[in-house]
Amino acid sequence: MADGEEPAKKRQRIEEQPEKMALDVSSSSSSSDWDGRWSHVQKFLERSGPFTHPDFEPNEETLLFLLDTCKILVIGAGGLGCELLKNLALSGFRKIHVVDMDTIDVSNLNRQFLFRSKDVGRPKADVAAEFINSRVPGCQVVPHFKKIQDFDESFYRQFHIIVCGLDSIIARRWMNGMLLSLLVYEDGVLDQNSIIPLIDGGTEGFKGNLRVILPGMTACLECTLELYPPQINFPMCTIASMPRLPEHCIEYVRILQWPKEKPFGDSVGLDGDNPEHIQWVFQKSLERAAEFSITGVTYRLTQGVVKRIIPAVASTNAVIAAICTTEIFKIATSAYVPLNNYLVFNDACGLYTYTFEAERKEDCSACSQVPQKLQFPPYAKLQEVLEYLTENASLQMKSPAITATLEGRNRTLYLQTVASIEERTRPNLCKTLKELGLADGQELAVADVTTPQTVLFKLNFTS
Ligand SMILES: [Zn+2]
Repeated sequence: MADGEEPAKKRQRIEEQPEKMALDVSSSSSSSDWDGRWSHVQKFLERSGPFTHPDFEPNEETLLFLLDTCKILVIGAGGLGCELLKNLALSGFRKIHVVDMDTIDVSNLNRQFLFRSKDVGRPKADVAAEFINSRVPGCQVVPHFKKIQDFDESFYRQFHIIVCGLDSIIARRWMNGMLLSLLVYEDGVLDQNSIIPLIDGGTEGFKGNLRVILPGMTACLECTLELYPPQINFPMCTIASMPRLPEHCIEYVRILQWPKEKPFGDSVGLDGDNPEHIQWVFQKSLERAAEFSITGVTYRLTQGVVKRIIPAVASTNAVIAAICTTEIFKIATSAYVPLNNYLVFNDACGLYTYTFEAERKEDCSACSQVPQKLQFPPYAKLQEVLEYLTENASLQMKSPAITATLEGRNRTLYLQTVASIEERTRPNLCKTLKELGLADGQELAVADVTTPQTVLFKLNFTS
């Protein structure tokens, strides 16, 4: 299988590096190792079995590669991150970096098991690294209490494999874009050595998913962006006239009854952190539910729906992180065929899982090298272009900044993120493309938080 061969080449390259040559049994790996410490890993690497990769020769060096050379980056030190760090450390990975911008909250403690009550308020990355380093001898986790956007290409390039345990789609998309920007093309041909595999795990309540992305070779995140629905909303007609679920009743009160009755005064909006507000919504939702003989409205659910909380389930995190680690192990060692390339897991009702191959999109805005087209009539307003960029299912940008080169000058047509520039460029939104001086075939550069790179679009005038 082609997918299995490419990382093999990558590892071969890594092994040829001088630092690898210098390794011997007396190197750092042995200082904290005792007899049989890695026997569980050796079983997979030093003998063959029905699932070993057809090209893999069992050997003793691969374990040394794991212990001393292979460098893994874990993005996120939350529910998935804690599991990932523990799994990686116990599987023999020792050169691990972890990036997380959050601090520990008391509500994390039930599942983010590297943290204790005394750690509340401290950076997750720091505490997680300290815990693993003190518990697993020889393991060196390097913490970064930062945003992923704080690092540049040179930081990301040092890793062999990157694994994401994030709850933010924007951050995932940014990471995907970063790894695509590291790819080197020579005469249009992808240099395999520039590929850093990305393992992406995600969980939502009892549902989880996982994908293995070889940037530039297999489907990237943006290729299948349609899989992320913009936001789970119930149809208004259901909420207003035929509720079936307790959530429908709560949404009814939140969306329709609160603005109408203004229980806490004219200018008071619903605040999910205010217990009195939640209590009011809860009582009204109970009344609504009783009307339709619906059961299951609780204070907790009310708070969940109002604040859009999806409960985190520790067991789902454990399963997804375990599969992520297995995939990292498979790619790092080349001993087994990696997942191709998307796995779905659901244990809400029984246990259901399957895998499928997500396909590359030929004109993917992130990984295809194909110029993106924007088709609009010359009399379309810039506002319509902006709406297209944010609402189109395969783009889903958040706050796109549009610039164009006009008469040799770089002009910002619209930029939302800086208030003063937003104010200055806002009038452009009501102007037509023609009025803005844009011509057929004009290139528009669009920057957005979902990607570290600017996306180039070519404007095609339709009549
Ligand atoms: Zn793509």
